[in-house]
Amino acid sequence: MGGNALVTVQSMTSTNTSDVRQTVEQIRRLEEAGCEIVRVAVPDDEAASALGPILREIRIPLVADIHFHYKLALKSIEQGVHCIRINPGNIGGIERLREVVRAAEQAHVPIRVGVNSGSLEDDILRRHGFKVTASALVESAVRNVRILEDAGFGDVKISVKSTDVLTTIEAYRLLSAAVDYPLHLGVTEAGRGRPAHIKSAIAMGALLMDGIGDTIRISLTEDPVNEVHAAYDLLKAIKLRERGVDLITCPTCGRIEIDLMKLSDELERRLGHIREPVRVAVLGCVVNGPGEAREADIGIAGGRGVGMLVKDGKFVRKVKESDMVDVLVEEVEKIAAEKRRSR
Ligand code: SF4
Repeated sequence: MGGNALVTVQSMTSTNTSDVRQTVEQIRRLEEAGCEIVRVAVPDDEAASALGPILREIRIPLVADIHFHYKLALKSIEQGVHCIRINPGNIGGIERLREVVRAAEQAHVPIRVGVNSGSLEDDILRRHGFKVTASALVESAVRNVRILEDAGFGDVKISVKSTDVLTTIEAYRLLSAAVDYPLHLGVTEAGRGRPAHIKSAIAMGALLMDGIGDTIRISLTEDPVNEVHAAYDLLKAIKLRERGVDLITCPTCGRIEIDLMKLSDELERRLGHIREPVRVAVLGCVVNGPGEAREADIGIAGGRGVGMLVKDGKFVRKVKESDMVDVLVEEVEKIAAEKRRSR
């Protein structure tokens, strides 16, 4: 992580970590969706004891999220986690922190310093007029990182998440100028649905376009699998990652002669299993359709009850509206298989 490595996609489980079966089941669904790093809450000893059994059943790196209890950090490392998230300032004093650092060092486990709106220290809040400002978040992050550095530890990544989009952007900009560690991006408690997606897209889009950020989580009050899909949508939109089908459909207008909404819903559902990057265009009519379809790997420009199938920019044949989904799915699967073979 960091440097020229790809920006990775993270999520966090919403299960009770001590319930191994449910947690593993959720992590497997996250893996299937493309999640590359997963974080689990470790609030108590039972959860820490579950980490080993969970790790034996999953394929992606696991981050243990710990607050206040240094013994939980030690136990998580013992259980074999790949990273711990702590705030060094709230782990119970410098001696306890040193113990955690020693264990992390020996196990080659990095530490994520995760500062967010709700975790600011009292003295920092006071100095910033009891407001969660960008500079307050950065001050806290830098202080916590310095504590680790003073304890001789440098395998660190940092996040400074705010619930506010503009504060998040400013905080990460300040932080990236102040330190040279990998940064984990996110807007905390972003909510659910459309507003949450937009908040995260603006904050992380702006930062990633500036070259800031090494790993992202789109926090949603939803099934965490949706976080992974949203993260890839964001990264694909700014060409930082390629994965799965990029479905281009027109917004429709009075010229439409096919049921494009139904068609695109069905395509989205039936093409969800494709991992290779394939650009598919489905346009409502012949005004912009053929031109747009030419830009895609495969496309259809609709007409009255029929569509023109265009592959690699060339007209192939006419397709009945009732056959469009089947034909496109078949063609996309062929293109994906070719891409897999030529990799
Ligand atoms: S492609 Fe045709 S139907 Fe779709 S928005 Fe454009 S003009 Fe309207």
